[in-house]
Amino acid sequence: MEPTPTNADLTQAAFSDYLKNKKLRNTAERSAICSTVCRINKPFTLDMIWQQLEDAKFHVSRASVYNTMELLLDANIVVRHKFTGAIVQYELKNFDDQSIYAVCTHCDTVRKVKNEKFNNLFTDCKIPKFTIEHHSLHFYGMCSKCKFRIMQKKINSKNQ
Ligand SMILES: [Zn+2]
Repeated sequence: MEPTPTNADLTQAAFSDYLKNKKLRNTAERSAICSTVCRINKPFTLDMIWQQLEDAKFHVSRASVYNTMELLLDANIVVRHKFTGAIVQYELKNFDDQSIYAVCTHCDTVRKVKNEKFNNLFTDCKIPKFTIEHHSLHFYGMCSKCKFRIMQKKINSKNQ
């Protein structure tokens, strides 16, 4: 029996099809960046991809990461988010087509939230003269790490 292809296999195949159609070479760099994107499984910055490749002793320039991400965007494999003013983040396109994010406005951390209740809110959602393809919902607030850090700061300043 043939092994079932994983999402990462399908993504790599989609990317190599895209490159072939655009008459671009599927270099080791492009392939390594694509598989790192598949592995991360959460919103990421270009720096995170670069760092993971560095850690794996695979040296690429930041410009290559940027250029490959532009190709992955154009190929519809990743999406670009600007959750907060400061940092651009990317994410492997969601094949379940439903995304809920909790964005910390203090440290720019983005966490994907799995919540059936939220998703069910939108099942019957209709917008006149518009076909919904997918939705994405962002909650802005403070993550527990930042909350803890701020609490510690308050305690320390009281004790001084
Ligand atoms: Zn935070």
